[in-house]
Amino acid sequence: MGRSVLLTLCLMLCAGRIAAQESGRTRLLEELNWLQIRELVPDSIRTVLIAAGTVEPHGVVHNGADNTVPYELALRLAPRVGALVAPTIPYGVTVTLDEYPGTLGIQAHTFEEYAYESLRGLARAGFENVIVLNGHGPNGAPLRSAAERAWRETDARFLITEWWSLTADLVQEIWGSEGGHAGNNETGAVLAVRPDLVHPELYTGPEMTTPRGEGWTAYPFPSSVILYREGEGYPEFDEDKARRFFAGVVDRLETLIGDVIAKWDRAGL
Ligand SMILES: [Zn+2]
Repeated sequence: MGRSVLLTLCLMLCAGRIAAQESGRTRLLEELNWLQIRELVPDSIRTVLIAAGTVEPHGVVHNGADNTVPYELALRLAPRVGALVAPTIPYGVTVTLDEYPGTLGIQAHTFEEYAYESLRGLARAGFENVIVLNGHGPNGAPLRSAAERAWRETDARFLITEWWSLTADLVQEIWGSEGGHAGNNETGAVLAVRPDLVHPELYTGPEMTTPRGEGWTAYPFPSSVILYREGEGYPEFDEDKARRFFAGVVDRLETLIGDVIAKWDRAGL
């Protein structure tokens, strides 16, 4: 391992203009070795992005959508926020959709412990900023709890993000409606990054959807497309809208991550 190799890698990862054009795939934690990481973290790279999802049905997109979407976000964000990308936590807290074919999930307390130790591990590895890109709603509470525990035990700072909650206005702007689980926004996010995993030919119409219940709960939930509001957010398959949406999600997250880190630094936390 020549020092020049490390220097080149560091220059690649640190130089602003090059970094902005570079693919997140050169920033995969699991594809760097310990000598490279020792040079980079935390002197040149203080931030790590980690996606967390699950495996469950999503209308006419693949069961791994909750892993694919935040991971692709991480790949695009990494050069823009100066981060490495950690391996995804792929099995999450699957609840009402658990009975659908090909669904895999684990219980909240197991997920929390695993997430807690994973986040604490990233802090111990030297990262000062641990940014979680959650891809699945029911992971939220245990992830927040895991992050709080890891924060109290380490010197790192933790940010948990949920892309679909951060972008309701963008969904309104692009589709003129609210979104939904496996609805316009989530189907659009997959269409933007993995169009090969979207199957419009399998979508038969609104009978494949159900609005999320006010005053009722069902186990299992009767549809895997769960609308945030009745009559809105149905899956659409417009690639242009999908790409505009995904670019907007990346921008929104870049701004949030940048602002939070700058304020942590300014406050000396
Ligand atoms: Zn999903």
